[in-house]
Amino acid sequence: MIPRKPSRNQSRSQSRSQSEKQTKAYFTDPMALLERLNLTPKEMFFSPEAVEEFRFKVPKAYVNKIQPGKPNDPLLLQVFPVQQELESVPGYIKDPLAEADSLYQPGLLQKYDGRALLLVTPGCAINCRYCFRRHFSYANKSPYDDKGHLWEQLKKNIQLIKQDSTLTEIILSGGDPLSLSDARFAELITLLESVPHLKRLRIHSRFPIVEPERISDELLDILLNSRFQIIMVLHINHAQEIGPDSKAGIEKLRKKQIILLNQSVLLKGVNDNVGILTQLSEKLIENHIIPYYLHMLDHVQGSAHFEVSDSDAIQIHQQLRAVLPGYMLPRLVREVAGEKSKLPVSD
Ligand SMILES: *Cc1c(COP(=O)(O)O)cnc(C)c1O
Ligand code: SF4
Repeated sequence: MIPRKPSRNQSRSQSRSQSEKQTKAYFTDPMALLERLNLTPKEMFFSPEAVEEFRFKVPKAYVNKIQPGKPNDPLLLQVFPVQQELESVPGYIKDPLAEADSLYQPGLLQKYDGRALLLVTPGCAINCRYCFRRHFSYANKSPYDDKGHLWEQLKKNIQLIKQDSTLTEIILSGGDPLSLSDARFAELITLLESVPHLKRLRIHSRFPIVEPERISDELLDILLNSRFQIIMVLHINHAQEIGPDSKAGIEKLRKKQIILLNQSVLLKGVNDNVGILTQLSEKLIENHIIPYYLHMLDHVQGSAHFEVSDSDAIQIHQQLRAVLPGYMLPRLVREVAGEKSKLPVSD
């Protein structure tokens, strides 16, 4: 077991990740998005202060799936910075999972047996307003400064993984691991492959959905050539997010024998409805993706307006269970600091 020493010395480098520098495929100005969608700041309850708290970033490929002129579009609600984010709500705190304490050094986090999270980049393809990482000091910054400082950190982390033979699976999460350039990503996999006790690599990513172009032939080759069994956990909250472009990206992954799972977050106004979740599960299975988790919202400051109560969540989940085959039913779970796994939410 990896020891858990608290440490707060995160990387503070300002530089952006490779892929972010190379692509201009993002909306980074909320006003430009509103113009594109034919909506006004007022009807959207736009808050510039919320953007200062957590940067606005949405890939164009995702924007294409938002319906213009519809303030409550379920995709738009996930990404648009609103005044409600500034309200302080009791119980909603900056680090609800107490990760700052379990992060005994930057970039490696083990809470559960046999598997550890390796944070390789703070960059994401999209900034989801409800994200529990919105207040992390590395949330908007690349760990890769000009001297490659955190790359050294990563090598240290891999040394630690080497020393713990109980670990069989590494989960790349964070930040979105596919924010790394192909070259960095390949280097990372090679480093991990040098650890004999590791069998599986799990990649948590929103890229195949929000920016499917990232699923390049080079990336597929890297994944295919790895000795690891690869599991990719997508993050899709609504069937509308799976457009033809995402379907194509997903199909490429599937053809490389990658196991595809999905996790969703139960979000008020977005998917807190049995019809919407049924549609999502149907569409996931159509695309050979197994619904894995339906997460309760982490109580992170600025996200309270997305909260679905336990009783509503349980009711929705029960209704879902009544209409879906078992393999299409995601597990309703919540993350509780200090627990040995995510906990089922049930009556
Ligand atoms: C969610 C999570 C995992 C993965 O949990 P599974 O139940 O295996 O999907 C592992 N480590 C941490 C720290 C997590 O938060
Ligand atoms: S992609 Fe995941 S890690 Fe990144 S902002 Fe969205 S929820 Fe958070």
